[in-house]
Amino acid sequence: MQRLDNPKLEKRLETIALEALSSDKIHDNVRDFISQKISNKTFTVLPGLVDVHVHLREPGFFYKGSIRSETAAAARGGYTTVCSMPNLNPVPDNLRNLAIQYAIIDRDKYINVIPFGSMTIGENGKELSDMKTMSPFVAGFSDDGKGIQNADIMRQAMEKARSLNKVISAHCEFDSLLNGGYINEGKYSKDHGHKGISNESEWREIERDLLIAEETKAPYHVCHISTKESLELIRKGKEKGINVTCETAPHYLLMDDSMLEENGRFKMNPPLRNSSDREALLNGIIDGSIDMIATDHAPHSIEEKSRGLRDSLNGVVGLETAFPLLYTNLVKTGKITLQHLINLMSINPSKRFDIAQRDCVCIYDLNDSYTINSNDFLSKGKSTPFEGWKVYGKCIATICNGKLVYIDNDLKEELIKKEQEINSKQFIITKEENPKCKILSTYLT
Ligand SMILES: [Zn+2]
Repeated sequence: MQRLDNPKLEKRLETIALEALSSDKIHDNVRDFISQKISNKTFTVLPGLVDVHVHLREPGFFYKGSIRSETAAAARGGYTTVCSMPNLNPVPDNLRNLAIQYAIIDRDKYINVIPFGSMTIGENGKELSDMKTMSPFVAGFSDDGKGIQNADIMRQAMEKARSLNKVISAHCEFDSLLNGGYINEGKYSKDHGHKGISNESEWREIERDLLIAEETKAPYHVCHISTKESLELIRKGKEKGINVTCETAPHYLLMDDSMLEENGRFKMNPPLRNSSDREALLNGIIDGSIDMIATDHAPHSIEEKSRGLRDSLNGVVGLETAFPLLYTNLVKTGKITLQHLINLMSINPSKRFDIAQRDCVCIYDLNDSYTINSNDFLSKGKSTPFEGWKVYGKCIATICNGKLVYIDNDLKEELIKKEQEINSKQFIITKEENPKCKILSTYLT
């Protein structure tokens, strides 16, 4: 089995895990079982994962997802810090609205949540938000969900971001190039009578922004790149010394539009592109041109995703499946190392967005294989293009800020078996909250 490159780091992570497990609130058998599996290397302790692009839906869209449900989902995926996008109601475009969001986060979070502030008021693309006062409390600034159509607004935002030393995280999309499209423009859209979105709608805006980033020297990050042209522009930008980074998402690396079905669970924006885009992005991961992998986790109600490819809302969930999918398809296949995947999913995003994680780890059983079943998700969103995929890697437990916040429930069954074998006293981990897995809310701060 693959291990991390740095034995010292590995040791430190294991110590964090063992210390958290030694809390007297945890039953001896649970602690002993997990600790033993860590010691004999059956379980792997990894740095807590970091996702810089998620939609947690609160405040404003509780029916789609909540801080409680979506951070529980994140913990189940091994995440310990997520950065939430500002397409909320109210939009965090000033300190007051941001405080409303923080009140819910502080009350309900299972893991660390750092919100993005919006770049413009109400994400309207016309007038800058109160970036300066929000700056100390946000991961960066974004109008995710929409491209900034006006170059002058982007220039103002980048100048401000540069002065505040904050990253602009840009969803790049020119409305004028969409032509009413809602899936990728290509063979599938033509064969099935759908309107297609061109690659150009994405890369044209990146091309424009790179020039502005070069002029202003602002820290510029491109969200969810999906096209080969986008990657090529970013590569060239980096060669020129522009302060640019980018992310892509698991679905753009593992799927393309030849795999589309007439089902809303395949609908997201940007759309699944063609196989040459997918291959280019994979090469961008391998050669390091792509800095990080984010999920763009975007829960919606069942009804909102049940209207087929044309009319379903954009967005799929990803927090509970990203690591197992990428471990199975990139690491186990030998395309990248486990360390490289951890760089993409924890180390690099932390560095770029100045995220300090302390005592944050996840414990994975990398040999455990299972089939992705959205009924098991803790997320309110159940829509995933990866339904039914077989993966390796199950998150056994997640420790955030030194505290155990998640433990897998199948483990309990195994422990009960063990308990019967040794015929000692009965034990209970916590009361049942979910038949498949549970969150240890008693360990919340
Ligand atoms: Zn976006």
